[in-house]
Amino acid sequence: MIIKPLKPSIYLRQLEALKWRLPVNHPKKEDIMKEHGKFYSGYYGERSLLYHLRSFLYRPDLLFYHNVKLKQDGFYFEMDLMILSQRQMTFVETKHFKGILSFDPIRHQFWRKDPETKKIEVYKDPLTQVRSHSHDFSSWLKENQLHYPLTITPYVTLTHKDALIDPELPGQSDIFKSIFRSDQLPFKLRESLNSTKSNKPISKRQLKAISEKIMSSHSEEKSDILQKFGISPNELRKGLRCPACSHIPMIREKNHWLCGACNHKCNPLIESLRDYALLIDEQICHRDMVAFCLLANRNQCSYYLGTLDLPKSGKKKGTVYHLEGLIKGG
Ligand SMILES: [Zn+2]
Repeated sequence: MIIKPLKPSIYLRQLEALKWRLPVNHPKKEDIMKEHGKFYSGYYGERSLLYHLRSFLYRPDLLFYHNVKLKQDGFYFEMDLMILSQRQMTFVETKHFKGILSFDPIRHQFWRKDPETKKIEVYKDPLTQVRSHSHDFSSWLKENQLHYPLTITPYVTLTHKDALIDPELPGQSDIFKSIFRSDQLPFKLRESLNSTKSNKPISKRQLKAISEKIMSSHSEEKSDILQKFGISPNELRKGLRCPACSHIPMIREKNHWLCGACNHKCNPLIESLRDYALLIDEQICHRDMVAFCLLANRNQCSYYLGTLDLPKSGKKKGTVYHLEGLIKGG
């Protein structure tokens, strides 16, 4: 049963919006495209796990949580995938890297050799990472007085189809029990479920309490992405963005807006207000909406806002519309 489904993170959606809103020749464009590519491929890798786990996802005895972020000892830790049951917990860290991947289990080192450039890149050891998250989670449970006496199984899955585990590593090494290509995950999970069958289970009520606490404690903060990359809101492309092909700006015709690039006709306010909420502010006034969406005037803006039924506060010229719901709604 999927309790917390996989969704693109707010940061990935901010990068996506920025990718479209930044002019082609902007000096930061390449950095944004690279960062977007990195986070999108991570998300793509996590999504590919769903296919491998398809026979487990709807089992009522297994609870699935994607991208849970919790705070322990003043720091946040985030797990790509958690699978909970009354008898066991499995944490899965995903790595979407192509090329030859090497691990040194003694020195806890992990590196990747690019098949084309032969360049070596060093990364954090993913097994250490997932073990440390398991440890953080156990401390978090204790601090919240939640009972879970069983051990947590940590796995690292390699989701890229062109990931090759260094064939020169000794095949018997213990790390391969925990690090493997993602198509092996269903077999590993089945093995782990069988081996924990004799564990004394926690009660359904205890599992429910853990599940509810995870969901109410999960936090995903929206950061100021423009500040992070040193970009001013004035540098963004203004106008309504086509929901079909992302061309900016759309042109106003009689009863609709038209995309000059793909001829799509629609009323595309929501997409552009969501861009505004992700990149600039979660509240917008008439004046800023006219400027960001390139609307003709305040009357046109009032007309569109009337059709959207957004929550608002303040009066007359001080009225602001609240866009938080557009981010949460995905
Ligand atoms: Zn279009």
